[in-house]
Amino acid sequence: MTTTPQPAHEVPAPPTMRDVLAAARRIEGLVVRTPALAHPELDRAAASAGAAGASLVVKHENLQHTGAFKVRGALNLLLGFDDDERRRGIVAYSTGNHAQALAHAARRTGTACTIVMPDHPNPLKERAVRDLGADVVLHGATFDDARARAGEVAAATGARLVGAANEPVLVAGVATATLELLEQAPDLEVLVVPVGGGSGA
Ligand SMILES: *Cc1c(COP(=O)(O)O)cnc(C)c1O
Repeated sequence: MTTTPQPAHEVPAPPTMRDVLAAARRIEGLVVRTPALAHPELDRAAASAGAAGASLVVKHENLQHTGAFKVRGALNLLLGFDDDERRRGIVAYSTGNHAQALAHAARRTGTACTIVMPDHPNPLKERAVRDLGADVVLHGATFDDARARAGEVAAATGARLVGAANEPVLVAGVATATLELLEQAPDLEVLVVPVGGGSGA
């Protein structure tokens, strides 16, 4: 039997339930246990869209630190860093919630954090990331330019390049929101997950 070398773009193994439970213990006290609330007006909207009798429950991760679930993954990653990894830090390319989550978690854990954004980002989002203490590097016209620059920063400094997807430790952290939701609303029959890169899914 021969072993096939893994191509660099191979999707890493997804986290296991054990990883999710470990993440929940690790980030406990540093994240908000956000409420899961019923919204009768959403039930009415669902009924008129053909789902009569559905009782919707919303897991309010908009009330999470930085306003999104991503901080769960960021904390799970950075709390696992040793002193040397924290000193070398992290680098990411993002203009949105990924950047704010990493900056927040970096500040909480004393980790150096550089965020690369394309030139002329949304000033509010840039300000939010700077206010969280991250170094912001503006580079290039497009997201691809920023990604390339982030790779160069990582190569030059030894910082860990943290993608928004394909990061099992982030996914395990994000999954703690689902764990909470299943405790708060154990009778769910259907789970609707917003998907970009897919960490929630
Ligand atoms: C990041 C994000 C998503 C998409 O998550 P993915 O991991 O990219 O699938 C959806 N909603 C909010 C509020 C987000 O911050």
